[in-house]
Amino acid sequence: MSMLDTQSSCDDEKEFGTLSVDDARQKMLSAVTEKAVCEQVHLTDAIDRTLAKPIISPINVPSHRNSAVDGYAIAHIDLPKKGDIKTLNVVARVVAGHPYQGSLKKGECIQIMTGAQMPSSADTVIMQEHVEVHGDIIHIDARHQAGQNVRQAGEDIKKGAVVLEAGIKLTPPQIGLIASLGIADVHVKTPLVAAVFSTGDEVLNLGEAPAEACIYDSNRYSLMAALKKVGCNVLDMGIIPDEPEQLKTAFEMASQNADVIFTSGGVSVGAADYTKQVLAKAGSINFWKVAMKPGRPVAFGHINKTTFFGLPGNPVAVMVTFYQFALPCLQKMLGLNHPLVNPIIKAKSTHSIRKIAGRTEFQRGFLSKGEDGAWEVSTTGQQGSGILRSMSEANAFILLEHHQSTVHEGESVLVQPFSGLF
Ligand code: AMP
Ligand code: MG
Repeated sequence: MSMLDTQSSCDDEKEFGTLSVDDARQKMLSAVTEKAVCEQVHLTDAIDRTLAKPIISPINVPSHRNSAVDGYAIAHIDLPKKGDIKTLNVVARVVAGHPYQGSLKKGECIQIMTGAQMPSSADTVIMQEHVEVHGDIIHIDARHQAGQNVRQAGEDIKKGAVVLEAGIKLTPPQIGLIASLGIADVHVKTPLVAAVFSTGDEVLNLGEAPAEACIYDSNRYSLMAALKKVGCNVLDMGIIPDEPEQLKTAFEMASQNADVIFTSGGVSVGAADYTKQVLAKAGSINFWKVAMKPGRPVAFGHINKTTFFGLPGNPVAVMVTFYQFALPCLQKMLGLNHPLVNPIIKAKSTHSIRKIAGRTEFQRGFLSKGEDGAWEVSTTGQQGSGILRSMSEANAFILLEHHQSTVHEGESVLVQPFSGLF
């Protein structure tokens, strides 16, 4: 298979950043803090929300001793000896929700249904399939054990036990689990408000007629979609032209109304000076050249108390920097205790990938099982950082490490699946 050429594009100069991807991520992570605000919602509105306080069980589950099967409840002293058959009188029939108030005498049993409360004087249940029934009399043999087929009160969950820890994103079974405790309202994190705007005189709004030398805004839409997926409330601030006063107003407004600001474009060489000038007074912003491709120029910092991610303009660079930098930070800000970013695995590269040592590259790849059942990965078409299609057809990043150089066909590479998020 031929060597895949990387696209030549404006960001493909042989220029390398000054900060490694890991260092950039670490600097950002240490600068963001968890947003402490929480609110109470009804369980029907709690799906996908982040639990803000642990769920502590107010009851035992099950709340009462009950039968695990349909059968006959007996006292274990009535079990026959080895080789014997015992005859017992059926004195009552109990179903779930209707407890038996009487007590069993020696030689008596009651017919019991799954989930029905055990009579106080019984401790063992014989499955109905293991019983010979003759009217109100049953015969049981000696294969049974004392205490069998009975679920004890509190066997699943003890009253006072921590059932769910704070920081989890609630799933359908967890919603059911909370309901099983009789809890109707839960404390969840108030969503982060994320303001998003695009910058650039060339960027067109959807609905505008195509114009010479202009492009449609894709970054704002991909970013807003990604932010919604992680549970942020999005404040759509549209497109801001490359004009200092308008940019200044937009940053001011965003910092007053949002917990986090995402912009795209305007942080590359030349343009950066411009944004820098606007942000010089308002906040403490770093303009970094990260040793990565795509995504080299990234601005990060705080405008007043609002976290600011100034992502590059190229659409793929936006997605890569969002995934690699913003997601871990959002996880921390949201107080989520499980990672939004997927673990990295190894897979065999189906072809050669040209790579220069000295920067981390995030190629877009398609991860699948090869004929031998092992994971393999191939790049998705042309890899220029403006080619969003490479991303939309991908299900994973092929992560080519800082010191790595060209990968040959069949070699193992690191792969980070998007699964679920992108
Ligand atoms: P910049 O960093 O502003 O120079 O932008 C880098 C490249 O990304 C340029 O080709 C821009 O036209 C493009 N770009 C910037 N913003 C957007 C956007 N919102 N949607 C699509 N492409 C963009
Ligand atoms: Mg621009």
